[in-house]
Amino acid sequence: MIPMPKFELSSPGTLAEVVAATARANGGVSILAGGTDLIVHVKHGLRKPEHLVWLGKVTELRTFSFSPELGLRIGAMCTLDEIATSPALRQYYPEIAEAARSVASPAIRNRATVGGNLCQDTRCFYYNQSESWRSALGGCIKGELPSAANNSICHATPGLAKCAAAFCSDLAPLLIALGASVNLLNQNGARTIGLAELYRDDGANHLALKSGEVITEVLIPATQPNQFTAFRKLRDRRAIDFALVNVGLNVALDSDLICRNVKIVIGAVQSVPVEVQTVGAILKDQRLTTELIHRAAEEAASVVTPVPNVGATVGYRKRMARVLVERALLEVRSRSSKAM
Ligand SMILES: Cc1cc2nc3c(=O)[nH]c(=O)nc-3n(C[C@H](O)[C@H](O)[C@H](O)COP(=O)(O)OP(=O)(O)OC[C@H]3O[C@@H](n4cnc5c(N)ncnc54)[C@H](O)[C@@H]3O)c2cc1C
Repeated sequence: MIPMPKFELSSPGTLAEVVAATARANGGVSILAGGTDLIVHVKHGLRKPEHLVWLGKVTELRTFSFSPELGLRIGAMCTLDEIATSPALRQYYPEIAEAARSVASPAIRNRATVGGNLCQDTRCFYYNQSESWRSALGGCIKGELPSAANNSICHATPGLAKCAAAFCSDLAPLLIALGASVNLLNQNGARTIGLAELYRDDGANHLALKSGEVITEVLIPATQPNQFTAFRKLRDRRAIDFALVNVGLNVALDSDLICRNVKIVIGAVQSVPVEVQTVGAILKDQRLTTELIHRAAEEAASVVTPVPNVGATVGYRKRMARVLVERALLEVRSRSSKAM
């Protein structure tokens, strides 16, 4: 058994108490939700929080509301299992339910939360290791070790002066494609930002959260009748595994299959979810023919540049990005034909 290091724990019961706890704890605070990501990192010595603020007693963060006109609001502490099994989600946003269902295993989804999924740490073959393994490597930008020689090196991309650890959330690419935003709160007040703005391209510091800020809610716009979405994920084992590549697609299709408002976001290839805008540009205002689908998928494979720091090779993940984009587009075309 791996022992837990010592830390202070607060269990606030309201959002006001969360704000007070995070403000009081100042810099050394970490938010604890389901703990399926954070506690693993703490046990491996990758995170050393002085103070954990657990959100599990805050009922305001477990709210969930849906209306066909206004869309969906998901409290940050809703679990992935609740999302995967919600009747409203299965009816109006089945691909979000599918993305939630693709995360980890049933036991983990019972604890894991939406906020934790969006804020989970980036991962890297050279970082998610024991301290002795990392010591032998002399540290890295993300996994700095006291007085180690290689603390300023990225082993996955030598020569790059920043950390390239991979973005891991399965929900984020699809939610960004759907135009989701997040409500944030800290001692200075509340603000709302687009979900894509939550992320920055630095694997060692990939969240643009301000000091003490928590996600309180995720807001997903209402869907239109001609809007189609798809989620695709490649992983080693279907039973339990992080993505090697994942794809979120959102497109509006006219009755004659003309693509409007296309958004395709690819995850697990870099430190941020990547919107492949050139693919969107190829599809925009064009008829979704098989030939166009092939061209768009080829473009996706040529523009994504996976970092060699998760399970499979770069070449394979690039090829599979093409396959996943192609399958997602074929799927929405088939569903649109049935719906019209
Ligand atoms: C074996 C295994 C397999 C996994 N497979 C997958 C997978 O396939 N796909 C996938 O996406 N994930 C996977 N995960 C990662 C993780 O389980 C999920 O991402 C989960 O949703 C994290 O949620 P949590 O509530 O447990 O987060 P926690 O561990 O509690 O927190 C994760 C991070 O988010 C921060 N945080 C949590 N809530 C908030 C909030 N409201 N506001 C601000 N910051 C917050 C925490 O401070 C922490 O840094 C896997 C984990 C394990 C152990």
